[in-house]
Amino acid sequence: MSIYTCPHCGEKTFTPIKKALSGTMKSKGKPCPKCGKLCVNGKGATIFEAIFFLVAFAFIVYVYLHGLDNVWMYTHEVPIVLGIIVLMFVVPKIVNAFCFKLVQSIRLDAYK
Ligand SMILES: [Zn+2]
Repeated sequence: MSIYTCPHCGEKTFTPIKKALSGTMKSKGKPCPKCGKLCVNGKGATIFEAIFFLVAFAFIVYVYLHGLDNVWMYTHEVPIVLGIIVLMFVVPKIVNAFCFKLVQSIRLDAYK
């Protein structure tokens, strides 16, 4: 089964871009173009995002604590932190576009 297959109707309706924007199990997800039901990236994507956020956050704290260690760190602290924040949003989306299966949205408010 393809990772771009809709878990509701079984049709291959998702593209990498659409899948990337579907978010993880914490989000509402995106509707399938065929059956209109909401799909999100599954457990693997949700766990990956949580771990990635944790690691990125640890890096930000590390850079912050060592910001005054030397001149290089002092002048590069802000760009490094900004870069990590950008990565925190971009990397999970790229990973979601090419890995992990789609699942049905489990959010209750998605079905109202
Ligand atoms: Zn569908």
